[in-house]
Amino acid sequence: MEKREFLKASALLGAAALIAPSVLFDSNKVYASPAEAQAKGPFSLPKLPYAFNALEPYIDARTMELHYSGHHQAYVDNLNAAVLKTPMEKLTLDAFFKNMPKYQPVIRNNAGGHFNHTFFWETLNPNKSLLLGGLDAGIKKKWLTLDAFKAEFNKAALGVFGSGWVWLCVNKSSKELFITTTPNQDNTLMVMPGNKEGVPLIALDVWEHAYYLKHQNKRKDYIEAFWNLVDWNKAELRFQETNITKK
Ligand code: MN
Repeated sequence: MEKREFLKASALLGAAALIAPSVLFDSNKVYASPAEAQAKGPFSLPKLPYAFNALEPYIDARTMELHYSGHHQAYVDNLNAAVLKTPMEKLTLDAFFKNMPKYQPVIRNNAGGHFNHTFFWETLNPNKSLLLGGLDAGIKKKWLTLDAFKAEFNKAALGVFGSGWVWLCVNKSSKELFITTTPNQDNTLMVMPGNKEGVPLIALDVWEHAYYLKHQNKRKDYIEAFWNLVDWNKAELRFQETNITKK
């Protein structure tokens, strides 16, 4: 389904059926213009919402540049190469994720890589924000304190063996918050056997490419630095969207 049709379908079905793609997918950024789509495929690298050096000293400019221009671009390019001139070129990331076992690993890895990095850039913000509102209440209901929540998230992040991601999610039906990890470029939107599904609110990339230049083997320091950059306002907006869909 193309983006416009997807939006139309969302409107027709009402908020109960689908999560509005605006915050989760930020569709305008993720999907290319028709001209770009014709040139090299339907997916394009979203604009980074800040400068490479904006996250200093917590994440260094060189890491950001390589991570965005090198790694993220490669996921986009590989995804385009895999779908171009096939029936898949009309599909959205969401369509792949909803039927993940139907597709080859190259789709899973690169559609995941594209979504996860887009989501990660938007999880981060150089401007400090405070955890407030419904998400604040939800976190305190489950973990009692923000520090206790962070401790569990940090433990999960340290426990990822090899490459992967850590997520704070909300269960679409029960509205319960939970922390989970995914290997490689998997994420919690992928519907497939053995995957714990949830709507992501914040994400942390724990692949070595995300921190090795600055922190080398000290993943713990990178995880600590990450908390200075989390955009709690964005996380709260995502959380609110899941509540709207409940009604
Ligand atoms: Mn990465």
